[in-house]
Amino acid sequence: MSDFFNKDLAESYDIVILGAGPAGCSAGMYAARDAMSVLILEKNYPGGNMAITEQIENYPGFIEPVFGHELSDKFLKHAEKFGAIVRQGTCADIINEGEEKTIILDDGRKIKCKAVIIATGSKPKKMNAKNEELYIGKGISFCATCDGGFFRNKEVVVVGGGDSALEEGIFLTKFASKVTIVHRRKEFRAVKIIQKRAAENEKIKFLTPYVVDEVLGNRVIEGVRLKNTETGEYMDYKTDGIFVFIGWDANTDIFKNIIELTDGGFIRAGEDTKTNIAGIFAAGDVRKKGLMQVVTAASDGAAAAKAAEKYISEELNK
Ligand code: NAP
Repeated sequence: MSDFFNKDLAESYDIVILGAGPAGCSAGMYAARDAMSVLILEKNYPGGNMAITEQIENYPGFIEPVFGHELSDKFLKHAEKFGAIVRQGTCADIINEGEEKTIILDDGRKIKCKAVIIATGSKPKKMNAKNEELYIGKGISFCATCDGGFFRNKEVVVVGGGDSALEEGIFLTKFASKVTIVHRRKEFRAVKIIQKRAAENEKIKFLTPYVVDEVLGNRVIEGVRLKNTETGEYMDYKTDGIFVFIGWDANTDIFKNIIELTDGGFIRAGEDTKTNIAGIFAAGDVRKKGLMQVVTAASDGAAAAKAAEKYISEELNK
């Protein structure tokens, strides 16, 4: 991390990777190892959502839970080991001039490259409840696979009414003694079969039509203040944790005029990570896909690096 804030950059690289989360670092590692000159630009801090995850206990090879920031550091160092340059910087625009792309940073700097890998990730939608920010990562989670194990024999609230909320709610019954699904409408968006499975689960209780107005606690979560969306009445409800599944926002704002996005704002790219623009690839949570995990982001990064390397060596050097 010592050179992360260094402002000195070369004028051009073979590949510029936007985002130093698991997809970006993995792409950087693979591309640098393939003898490409690689710059990874990160807006905030290396690791992305992985860095702010308390513990990760499902990354293959790490049998004991590993702190998110620790795994992030390992990803970063692994990319740097093969020569990827990782720097703090915010991409404001990409100018695509065919074989040459120019990354424009928000401070006016310009970097030229042959290929771009977008690995800017996505962010879970928040509830906008009072005290929410205080408890994110400390009782409020956006990932049942990552954090469900911390709620063994505890009571949790799941917020949302889509497939994710109900599926993850069912998953959480493996750990929690009680799972209460709080949804803002009486009808659920989730498909019927998942609704039926959730309704048949003895550990699941439904509370509708409510939204979480406030998170209650004293350093640890003790409950939620719920607001009835029809009557406006409030009700306090005891819980040890809150899982929020109300959708995801991809970090694609600056790309929407450049690259084809899905209706939900994710980059439209298949397993080969190719976007509609030759030489621009998308990897990790910014790409529309089924399972958003560190391991799938890392896998995407590897695929994108290989695709970018192939594009440079075969398409550009024809
Ligand atoms: P989603 O389908 O967009 O559902 C989001 C849920 O959150 C909706 O019930 C919505 O309520 C609620 N919501 C949105 N904003 C809210 C807010 N500010 N406060 C409270 N509630 C809010 O998202 P998802 O469940 O993550 O699913 C995303 C996509 O992945 C969907 O296409 C889904 O089918 C798919 N998916 C599929 C599977 C599967 O096939 N096994 C599993 C998971 C996800 P309203 O209903 O009132 O809008």
